[in-house]
Amino acid sequence: MGIPRNDTDQEFARWIDECAAKIDTTATDTAPSAEPGRVDRALLLRLGEVGLLPALFPGTADDGPLREAPATRLCLLREHLARTDTHAETALALQGLGTYPLLQSGTERQRRRWVPEAASGRAVAAFALTEPDAGSDAAALGLRAEPFGDGWRLHGEKTWISNAPDADFYTVFARTTPGTRSRGVTAFCVPGDRPGLTGSPLEMLSPHALGHLVFDGVEVGPEDVVGVPDQGFTVAMRTLDLFRPSVGAFAVGMADAALAAAKEHTDRRSAFGGPLRGLQTVAHTLAEMATRTEAARLLVYSAAAEYDSGGPDVTLRAAMAKLFATETAQYVVDAAVQLHGARALHRGHLLEHLYREVRAPRIYEGASEIQRQIIARHM
Ligand SMILES: Cc1cc2nc3c(=O)[nH]c(=O)nc-3n(C[C@H](O)[C@H](O)[C@H](O)COP(=O)(O)OP(=O)(O)OC[C@H]3O[C@@H](n4cnc5c(N)ncnc54)[C@H](O)[C@@H]3O)c2cc1C
Repeated sequence: MGIPRNDTDQEFARWIDECAAKIDTTATDTAPSAEPGRVDRALLLRLGEVGLLPALFPGTADDGPLREAPATRLCLLREHLARTDTHAETALALQGLGTYPLLQSGTERQRRRWVPEAASGRAVAAFALTEPDAGSDAAALGLRAEPFGDGWRLHGEKTWISNAPDADFYTVFARTTPGTRSRGVTAFCVPGDRPGLTGSPLEMLSPHALGHLVFDGVEVGPEDVVGVPDQGFTVAMRTLDLFRPSVGAFAVGMADAALAAAKEHTDRRSAFGGPLRGLQTVAHTLAEMATRTEAARLLVYSAAAEYDSGGPDVTLRAAMAKLFATETAQYVVDAAVQLHGARALHRGHLLEHLYREVRAPRIYEGASEIQRQIIARHM
């Protein structure tokens, strides 16, 4: 199955599959070389070497201008990697999420300093928006940027931040004007070794590199501002408009992997005198899984096409794609577990792994309820 694609996209998708085969982890979480919950630097370097990370950052491999990858390409990268290796997929995506604010809104100096390093896998990036008291309501964020000299000092906390506390640089969203919600937020590029910045890892259901950060008077100057002071919320939303459909692509890749496993298993497994797939209820479940996965894929690539063509409905379509694809993947993975029976819950089974991986995307980068709110607002 798959949406009609032009030759270049098909060739790119084949190239991703070839590169993915060279990455030395499996779709289980037993293989990664880092401790669970910590950044896997060896994997990031490998993603850089085989060319997958540079594909996310055009201009780094060919010395051309540093620029965004087309949304369609970002989605192809995430969907195809997710089918075979969610660990590699997530490592790649988080480099993008942490670095794109600089690529889209940063200064030439910030881009030159960090983008090639992130593309090679040598520097680890992170996007730090969420706080203990500001999650879904991100405009309520309270990490204080207090004026100091010609810059600021940052005081406060960020939490549930992917790649923290190991990242080499963070795009941090801080409150420069109190009481103004989204209008008084500034984005800063903060190197991970700045004095006053500390953090600790958080252990999650799936081994996602993630942590908590404490800012105790971290100094930042005008050269660290990403975009324009007090307009950092626009920086965050610009990145999320691009990355939300790609979370959908990640979900579609996982759904595809679960569906393939369910088809294979129900062909092989014999019960009541024939293969499980011969039972109408099983065949209809597979049909439903396939149909919903394809519908999710269509929404994802429609949102990506809207972004690439500069269309007026980027935010609306991105929200629809993320909502539908992540909810669909949850259904498909759960149905695949059911069709496998007990073996799917055995530690180390592909579906046991996917069952844990598929849950978080319905919460991060805006929970499903927030996507519905965005859709209702933009209809
Ligand atoms: C694996 C993982 C990785 C993450 N990575 C990052 C990262 O790199 N950077 C970063 O900044 N953050 C990151 N996050 C944080 C994530 O973005 C937040 O968890 C998310 O925005 C939700 O915030 P919250 O957890 O505080 O939930 P809350 O805001 O407390 O919401 C809890 C629930 O309340 C409901 N709800 C909230 N608001 C509404 C509403 N308006 N209408 C209806 N229902 C509502 C929803 O069901 C929601 O799930 C990550 C989270 C996870 C799990």
